[in-house]
Amino acid sequence: MTKQERAHTAKTILDRLYPTVPIPLDHTDPFTLLIAVLLSAQCTDKRVNLVTPALFKIGPTPQKMARLTVDQILACINTCGLANSKAKNVKRLAQLLLERHNGEVPATFSDLEALPGVGHKTAGVVLSHAFHIPAFPVDTHIHRLAQRWKLSNGSSVTQTEADLKKLYAPADWELLHLQIITYGREHCPARSCHGLTCEICRTCFPNRRTPITTRKA
Ligand code: SF4
Repeated sequence: MTKQERAHTAKTILDRLYPTVPIPLDHTDPFTLLIAVLLSAQCTDKRVNLVTPALFKIGPTPQKMARLTVDQILACINTCGLANSKAKNVKRLAQLLLERHNGEVPATFSDLEALPGVGHKTAGVVLSHAFHIPAFPVDTHIHRLAQRWKLSNGSSVTQTEADLKKLYAPADWELLHLQIITYGREHCPARSCHGLTCEICRTCFPNRRTPITTRKA
């Protein structure tokens, strides 16, 4: 199978398994999605969903979040990893949305990545899922599966993103991002299998007999 055929096979199976995928982080608008994604660094989505109801109750908008003290924010999120720096970033981010963007979440990579605590992956998630602007944010699951399906060589997450964007149409990126993460969580653990057991690898690599190694994100 060629790389393009493997990409098509993976998408066909993913579409059958997950015709729709909810965004795993609870949110109500671009601002609450941005904050939830920021909090999800070094933290599980489940944990983020446990802490955001209290945070969004007192800080549902940039205006209200900017008025909170760092300690008030920290009290809501202190069970998340890196809570101290995240609390400072959340407050400063809300202030900057008011100062630079009229209290709105901007819809460009450059404006989003200029905000504290917002890297390329976070910006891509917000652009894709809040604004439906084509982006293909690569997390650890996508980086691993792209290698196991030999859609990318895994030299870096930047390379994985570029390789996947070449293989799939922009209109498919938003759903594929969620489908691959869901498949990774449900079927493809980081520490086992390595390309031998489930449907996508068996279809793409029927003659594979030995485990393959992958590079971490
Ligand atoms: S066969 Fe293994 S490596 Fe391939 S997708 Fe399934 S779980 Fe992942």
